[in-house]
Amino acid sequence: MAKYSSKINKIRTFALSLIFIGFIVMYVGIYFRTSPVIMTIFMLLGLIFIIASTAVYFWIGMLSTKTIQVKCPSCGKPTKMLGRVDMCMHCREPLTLDPKLEGIKFDESYNSKKSK
Ligand SMILES: [Zn+2]
Repeated sequence: MAKYSSKINKIRTFALSLIFIGFIVMYVGIYFRTSPVIMTIFMLLGLIFIIASTAVYFWIGMLSTKTIQVKCPSCGKPTKMLGRVDMCMHCREPLTLDPKLEGIKFDESYNSKKSK
């Protein structure tokens, strides 16, 4: 599971960690059950984290529609690409759609329009 590091997987890990943070914050709130105000604040904070993660999951869904399905030249498995450069979901092989970038060291900055 930790092997995955393509962009969508990174965002998915981020969304998952938001859920965990939300639950931890809510759990901390239980310690303050003698003070309903503080407990409510913690519960609301935890809820905000969980709502944020739902939003991130929604964002992943939007991004998934923009991905390009390619066959990895290294392991032969089908993988999804986001942007001009991305990594294979299975073997972390750097992939590019731009022939100019072929053979160049993997760099996510190629996706931003500012860098040349
Ligand atoms: Zn691969």
